[in-house]
Amino acid sequence: MDRRLKNKLAECLNRPVLWNYPLAGHTTFGVGGPAAALAVVETHAELASFLGIVEQEGLAWRVLGGGSNVLVRDEGFDGVAVLLDGVFSHHSFGLTDGGVTVEAGAAVRFPKLLAMCVKQGYAGLEFSAGIPGTVGGAVVMNAGAWGAAIADVLTSVDIMGPLGQERIEAANLQPQYRRMVIPVPQPYVVVSAILSLQHENPADIHNRCDSYLQQRRLRQPKAAGSAGSVFKNPEGDSAGRLIEASGLKGLKIGSAEVSNLHANVIINRGGASALDILRLMERIQQKVAADSGIYLDPEVHIL
Ligand SMILES: Cc1cc2nc3c(=O)[nH]c(=O)nc-3n(C[C@H](O)[C@H](O)[C@H](O)COP(=O)(O)OP(=O)(O)OC[C@H]3O[C@@H](n4cnc5c(N)ncnc54)[C@H](O)[C@@H]3O)c2cc1C
Repeated sequence: MDRRLKNKLAECLNRPVLWNYPLAGHTTFGVGGPAAALAVVETHAELASFLGIVEQEGLAWRVLGGGSNVLVRDEGFDGVAVLLDGVFSHHSFGLTDGGVTVEAGAAVRFPKLLAMCVKQGYAGLEFSAGIPGTVGGAVVMNAGAWGAAIADVLTSVDIMGPLGQERIEAANLQPQYRRMVIPVPQPYVVVSAILSLQHENPADIHNRCDSYLQQRRLRQPKAAGSAGSVFKNPEGDSAGRLIEASGLKGLKIGSAEVSNLHANVIINRGGASALDILRLMERIQQKVAADSGIYLDPEVHIL
């Protein structure tokens, strides 16, 4: 990136742009190289200016939420990694006739939002107990568990692209398994979401979350050093079952290991490289395909 472009980017943002910034610490896998730049965007106006510049200059960029579903390559990302903060970290609750409306900025931590909802007796997000990340990441991934997903409680999503900001009503979203199709030209930034929840006794909501968390503890390793499920479940089957059936639990490449607790989780045992993880993913795909004829599709987004 030349100095002219660096200056242009720096001028449109309040917070200093960080050049050649290591991204590993911004992902739960904890691996990967630097981004050419890390930009923290705090207002809609800043975001609009930023998107105008990257569009005009043909610069690659990518929003990072909680980094709990991304794998950054060792060579890093030759573009601008964008972190949302400021107004995008705000939330508000509004009471309606039938329930509660939650307006949450994309940078709001999903677990924090759940905790606030539980405390106030707002039901509907219990499925997310134990899912890390942000509201923006949850929308993009259509995060879900136990047969429920964020799409079930979405009223609308606000996105911003190079052409401006737009509200997409839930009826026009096309939620898919671990993917939300938002019918606007790519790329875009999810800036906020409106969720519709119900009143319920906080103790009952709390108990449901607890039960989900207990089941998770039995089946899944901790968040640090993993990105949850690495592969999507193929239609009518489970990636974890297929990987286990191929005898791959515990398989290790470098410091990356197929979890013994949940075969669809890869753990960075400490000091793994992104290449270790990518090689392990490839080995899993090859063995499972050879054994079952099913090619596993990554759920993790690779940068
Ligand atoms: C221990 C553990 C357990 C998990 N369990 C589950 C589970 O049960 N169910 C489940 O669905 N997932 C699970 N995950 C995966 C992950 O937590 C979810 O996919 C989560 O919703 C990702 O949110 P994030 O903010 O971390 O997104 P990131 O990982 O930061 O990003 C994911 C993708 O979304 C894009 N993105 C993020 N924010 C925005 C935005 N505002 N605008 C545009 N694009 C954006 C990124 O560029 C990237 O492509 C788990 C992960 C871990 C580590």
